[in-house]
Amino acid sequence: MGEAGWLGLDWPKELGGQARAADEQLAFIEELEFCEAPSETYMVAETIIGPAIIKFGSDEQKRQFLPAMLRGDDESMFALHYSEPEAGSDLASLRTMARRDGEEWVVSGQKLWTTNGELAKYAILAARTDPEAKPKHAGISTFLVRLDTPGIDIRPIKAMYGRTFCATFYDDVRIPASALLGPENGGWQVITSALAAERVTIGSVAAHLQKILYRLIDHLITADNDRAKDPVIRDRIGGLAADLEIARQFALRNAELVQAERVPIYEAAISKMFIGDLHERFGEAALDLLGSGGLLSEDCPSAPLGEMEQELRYSIMTAIGGGTGEMQRNTIALRGLGLPRMK
Ligand SMILES: Cc1cc2nc3c(=O)[nH]c(=O)nc-3n(C[C@H](O)[C@H](O)[C@H](O)COP(=O)(O)OP(=O)(O)OC[C@H]3O[C@@H](n4cnc5c(N)ncnc54)[C@H](O)[C@@H]3O)c2cc1C
Repeated sequence: MGEAGWLGLDWPKELGGQARAADEQLAFIEELEFCEAPSETYMVAETIIGPAIIKFGSDEQKRQFLPAMLRGDDESMFALHYSEPEAGSDLASLRTMARRDGEEWVVSGQKLWTTNGELAKYAILAARTDPEAKPKHAGISTFLVRLDTPGIDIRPIKAMYGRTFCATFYDDVRIPASALLGPENGGWQVITSALAAERVTIGSVAAHLQKILYRLIDHLITADNDRAKDPVIRDRIGGLAADLEIARQFALRNAELVQAERVPIYEAAISKMFIGDLHERFGEAALDLLGSGGLLSEDCPSAPLGEMEQELRYSIMTAIGGGTGEMQRNTIALRGLGLPRMK
């Protein structure tokens, strides 16, 4: 895809992208899903980190990372080092420290729940650079860190949904001053913007679910005594299809806002919350429709449609990764509806 120029579809042309419209991006993502193109290696770089570097990066960072991302090089594979054992929803309370020492930063602390952390070559790291700052988020900076730097210890752990996430320990890790992304102590706006991009990306899970829904319908028509004629089943499928269309419209709206150079804060939260809830309901509905055989995994030859139980386990990623549904509801209430903060 990189060789054919299909990465960076929405990036500006002067930086090697195609500056495509939002509906074209959505169509492209849907086609990739339908043909099961793997997205692991380039997705985070192309949709989250690349746009952050375009917006906040130095000329040197743009030269170093953007061409490799457009080529889809493994070298440009990124992980997200935000969450910590005591800082998930309340990310501003993170404790990993970065201390300036001459032309270097010295980083110490721990990150947790990092998806693909053992595969990535780099991470975007959120660390505290001013411990006295008030409010807390005003003392955070972001860095682009090479993960084979001495002092970084990455430990993969198997997650319930079958993939790995990592715990990562930084022990007096020395990174160059040039690794700072955006202003010193100004990392919060980088994180907010990158998290909105992540939520927009998670919103595009709708395309994935659409593919699975077609398979489920196909199975109910062809392999399951035409149970698709049963009005109760039709009603359930119809409800899922309607919800998926809503999720698709949210994803499209977000892509349009990004294209208009706006950061969709509460809009991305709506999309993320809706698709997180829907993914869980989708997995449960699929298992109900398939009966007890639906619980069998795809390794089992007699499974009616093996990927369905995996879908329910995978939904934890959509529901919690990138911020929980409760946190999205808080953002919608405060930033979208303008409701007062609870004392
Ligand atoms: C599959 C998966 C992949 C992930 N990948 C990454 C990754 O690559 N990089 C990364 O940095 N992080 C990653 N995460 C971490 C994820 O961002 C956090 O798990 C998430 O933000 C929640 O934080 P927590 O787990 O610390 O839960 P907590 O913050 O402890 O929350 C526990 C519960 O309390 C609720 N809660 C907390 N505060 C409030 C509040 N103010 N109002 C209402 N309810 C509240 C939450 O909604 C939740 O139900 C991943 C998580 C998962 C599950």
